[in-house]
Amino acid sequence: MEKILVSACLYGLPVRYNAQAVPVPHPLWQRWWEEGRLIAICPEMAGGLPVPREPAEIIGRGGGVAVWAGQARVVDKTGNALTAAFQAGANQALQLAHLHGCRAAVLKSGSPSCGQGQIYDGSFSGGKTAGDGVTAALLRAHGIAVFDEHQLEQLAMFLDSGLS
Ligand code: SF4
Repeated sequence: MEKILVSACLYGLPVRYNAQAVPVPHPLWQRWWEEGRLIAICPEMAGGLPVPREPAEIIGRGGGVAVWAGQARVVDKTGNALTAAFQAGANQALQLAHLHGCRAAVLKSGSPSCGQGQIYDGSFSGGKTAGDGVTAALLRAHGIAVFDEHQLEQLAMFLDSGLS
């Protein structure tokens, strides 16, 4: 049965910066869980960051794509440089996806690692901007389809269609 890479916080593990998980009360999620299809990773922990930790955001326009291009960087709220840790964790997520043959991922919305389409804008004020997180950008660059926890029906259609 086809595996799906997922953010560990959506899987129910308390790994967010504030040591919380994120419930996903959706029957598709429950079904995939019970079928053993969900492969969980927290890229920030995989990159060596602790729980709890300071919240982090991407500084500069363009989100994760710009980070990989060296045109933006990741810092936490007190200004510590986290770009290398975020990239290390993203690389581990990509390796895990390849190991399990994942064509798709469900990643937590808004996160500077996992967010896709829209992320926090680097001001630490709650504002958002267009862009992907560092992990989401890397997975997409390697042909893995990225969805968030609000797009499970779209993912189900993707899986059923056999699109790649
Ligand atoms: Fe969840 Fe991703 Fe943040 Fe880890 S890095 S806590 S998996 S959103």
